[in-house]
Amino acid sequence: MLSDKEPFSLYIHIPYCVSKCPYCDFNVHVVPKIPEKEYSRALLNELDFYARSEDWWGRGLKSIYFGGGTPSTFSPSSVEKMIEKAASVFPFEEDIEISLEANPGREDSANFPGYRSSGVNRISIGVQSFQSHLLKFLGRLHSPDETRGALRMVTQAGFSNFNLDLIYGSPGQSLSDLRADLAEALSFQPPHLSAYNLTIEEGTPFHRQYQAGRLRPLDEETEVAMTELIEETLSKAGLERYEISNYARAGFHSRHNLNYWQGGDYLGIGAGAHSFLRKQENGVFGYRWHNERHPGRYMEKVRRTGEVVVEREDADLTKAAGEFMFLGLRTMRGVSVDEFSLRFGKNPQEFYPQIGDLLEGGLMEEKAERLRLTRRGFLVANSIFVNFV
Ligand code: SF4
Repeated sequence: MLSDKEPFSLYIHIPYCVSKCPYCDFNVHVVPKIPEKEYSRALLNELDFYARSEDWWGRGLKSIYFGGGTPSTFSPSSVEKMIEKAASVFPFEEDIEISLEANPGREDSANFPGYRSSGVNRISIGVQSFQSHLLKFLGRLHSPDETRGALRMVTQAGFSNFNLDLIYGSPGQSLSDLRADLAEALSFQPPHLSAYNLTIEEGTPFHRQYQAGRLRPLDEETEVAMTELIEETLSKAGLERYEISNYARAGFHSRHNLNYWQGGDYLGIGAGAHSFLRKQENGVFGYRWHNERHPGRYMEKVRRTGEVVVEREDADLTKAAGEFMFLGLRTMRGVSVDEFSLRFGKNPQEFYPQIGDLLEGGLMEEKAERLRLTRRGFLVANSIFVNFV
């Protein structure tokens, strides 16, 4: 029977990759042999720990997301054990979404039917591009042909809900390169597509090349033209933009990610995983924490004490309200004025007088009690978000 407590989302971090891409700043580890059994055992124990916690016990699950790293480095039987464990400790909502990120390598795609049978009902394929020169630049190991094979396997394995990730804005990428990537992506009729603008993150090899003057990002004008091309092409194909980087057919929006953007609770397990619990008490509006990042130390801590959290943060009113605005404004639906007022005791404009200027400047609009960015606003979204963080 489902509980009447608010359902939440579960994130499971698999921190291993076969090699590290030069633009990646995720918590990723490349090891000679992936300790799949030991790491899986640690995840199961961590789940047990939260099943006994007052804040999570008895609550329904609306989504599970296996993210990484590369979750497809783990076998379907390990994934199945985790899904079974989650089901045994948290009641599943009837329409639970269970997603898994996969690389399009040959070995990974051979496991797709197994993931489907294990209970995964949405698969997200890290395509990035269908062109060899762009894959090479991004440090990806798969070939365009492997990607095509993997996408055929997605359908053969019975996934009607799947996502395809593309990266655009690589130096040297032209608008016609992007057009070709979009056309080929659409030929597989994905119900969901994420298109990420390449960002140069500090601490990555790309950042070092950038600092040394060996990597020059595309100019802003080309990036804007690319974003417009993506939105226009995907919209014509029936994939509507619903978040800065995400496009979907009706009914195929990512439930898991929407929960993040709408300020819902999520529990993250695994090395470096982040969690959020909305709880109002003693001037606190919510709690955030994250786990030990290093997989070896994470497993050791689970084994020894079960205590893997290394940092906690209490979100006060200012922080919680800012996050609610910033995350909600990433979506095309924007932020509900009523819900903001209910959560934080004032309406958004009382909290942030600068919203008046954004409305007047045509970067934001208010419709049907929701505040959202306009098309022009989305093009300069990052400079708007700094008003709230
Ligand atoms: S495959 Fe994904 S997670 Fe792994 S290194 Fe590359 S970008 Fe990072």
